[in-house]
Parts: sequence; structure tokens; C-alpha cells
Amino acid sequence: TTTPVAVIGLGLMGRALAGALLKAGHPTTVWNRTAAKANQLVAEGARLAPTVGDALQAGSLTIICVTDYQAVHELLDAGDIKLDGTTLINLTSGDSAQARQAAQWAELRGARYLDGAIMAVPPAIGTAEAVILHSGPQSDFEAHKSTLDALGTVTYLGADHGLASLYDVAGLAMMWSVLNGWLQGTALLRTAGVDAATYAPFARQIAAVVAAWLPGYAEQIDSGSFPAEVSALETDARAMAHLIDESEAVGVNAELPKLIKAIADRSIAAGHGGEQYPVLIEEFGKPRND
Ligand code: NDP
Repeated sequence: TTTPVAVIGLGLMGRALAGALLKAGHPTTVWNRTAAKANQLVAEGARLAPTVGDALQAGSLTIICVTDYQAVHELLDAGDIKLDGTTLINLTSGDSAQARQAAQWAELRGARYLDGAIMAVPPAIGTAEAVILHSGPQSDFEAHKSTLDALGTVTYLGADHGLASLYDVAGLAMMWSVLNGWLQGTALLRTAGVDAATYAPFARQIAAVVAAWLPGYAEQIDSGSFPAEVSALETDARAMAHLIDESEAVGVNAELPKLIKAIADRSIAAGHGGEQYPVLIEEFGKPRND
């Protein structure tokens, strides 16, 4: 079955979202501040709404994807705009506090509200590779899941509207850590004439092995008990010193290895040297401002 949908915001991402909905056969109304960005979509069968207010009345589901939450509010806070009767899905990137605040604001205005985060680039939208996270009332997600499926792999995280943003940044932390670790190793190996393409399959294998540790390590974190089943933190810290020494000896950047060791050293100083690596959650779980 097809559902009338409105898409507000036709930047690179909004155009990809609207295009995928059209391709799946949903009657799609679009609106953008710069109307010309709708031309291609209109040629593909979208209806261009004359105003934001008109777009919001076009269907029971409205997706908004603009630069930031300030733009969302600038667009939708105008007094004459009616939000009641629509489910607003905000796929604009932001932080969890902005998402929770926007949820309260939208609900006061009579809208149903889901917050979302897109973990994909525009060309991936409409394929299974595009992971799109949603949080807010489960019944609102379920009501529109079959429509949202046109956008990619849509996932529901929970009732707290802030969850999609939190998972979004958590995923970024993972992504950059993997990439930075790989770049460190690549820089080291290049000093011996090993090119990046030669190391990449090894690095990929290591990343996969480490990724497989996560569920077991998560159990340690959730139980708050960190027995050194395979390795003690002080053993890891000695290996970290090797990484720093090697980086300095061959003349590559040692900043990241030093940061990693500084975190481990603090945990060891706090008496956790005989415990297993995930005990570092105690260092990660509090602020450090210096
Ligand atoms: P673009 O810069 O391509 O588009 C920005 C959109 O926001 C345009 O439609 C623009 O309108 C609109 N906009 C900005 N400010 C206002 C305003 N004050 N009033 C009305 N409209 C406004 O960005 P993207 O489409 O790439 O990104 C949109 C969102 O998607 C962002 O939050 C981004 O973080 C997120 N995202 C993007 C990804 C990507 O790879 N591109 C990946 C994951 C998330 P106009 O055309 O008139 O300027």
C-alpha cells in the first residue's frame, strides 16, 4: 500500500529521501526554501507544495531534513503553521537534548513526533545499506514503518526521543576509532615500504576479531565486574608503550597512541591494572577537562 508523504527540505539528503519515496510509489509532496531544488523531483512525479503549511497538510506523514534544528524551528514555529494531524519525522542531525526538546514542542502543537538519524550518504538512500534510526513512541513508528522501509534499513531504538541522536554519535565514535587505528598502522607500515592496500586486508581481519569481543566485554561492563580472563590491563599498557616507541622511532605521529596509554595509565593508577580492558569504561564514563 502507498501512503501520501511530505518531505520538507530538499538538500542533498532531502532529495534522496523524496526520490526513494517516489520510486516506491508513495504520492510525495515536497517543499524547499529554494524551490528550484524540487525541479527534478517534480519531473519524477512529486507535487511541489506552495508553502510549508500546505506540505504539512498533504499527508499523515511529514519527513523534515534540513541543516539543523534551528532551521526546523524557523520553518515550523511560525504561528499560522498547523502540525496537528501529522506524524512529523525529523531526520535532521542534532543532539539528544535538541531531539527531546523538539518532541515536547511538536507534541504541544498537536503533532506526533519521531526523531531520527541517518547513518548513510545520500546515494545509499533507498538501499539496505542506508541505516536510519528512529526513536519516540513505538506505535507511531509501527504505523509508518512500511512507508519508511522505502528509505533503507529502518530501525526503532526506543521511546526516548534522544536515542537516535545518541546512537548516531556513538556510531561516529566507533567509526573514527576504527579508521584512526587503521591509519596509525598504515603510517607505521609505510615506513617499511608496505603500501596501504597490502595492509588493508590484515587490518580488516583484526577489526573483525576485535568486533567479535564486544558482546562478551559488554557483559563485563553491564555486570560491573572485569576479571582478566584473557589479558590484564597492565599487559595491554606495556603493548601500548611498544606502539608509542615504535611510532616515535620510525618518525610517525604518536599522539593517538599516547592518548590511549594516558587513559590506561590513569585506570592502572586507580588500581585496575589487574582487570580486563573494558574496566576503562570508568575513565570513559566521566568528564575530563584539561
Ligand atoms: P544540504 O546543505 O544539502 O541541505 C540543507 C537543507 O536545509 C536545504 O534544503 C536548505 O534549504 C535547508 N535549510 C537550511 N536552513 C534553512 C532555513 N533556515 N530555512 C529553511 N530551509 C533551510 O544538507 P544535507 O541535505 O546534506 O543535510 C541535511 C541533514 O541531513 C543535515 O542535518 C545532515 O547532517 C543530515 N545528514 C546528511 C548526510 C549527508 O551525507 N549529506 C548524512 C547523514 C545525515 P535551501 O535549499 O533553500 O538552502
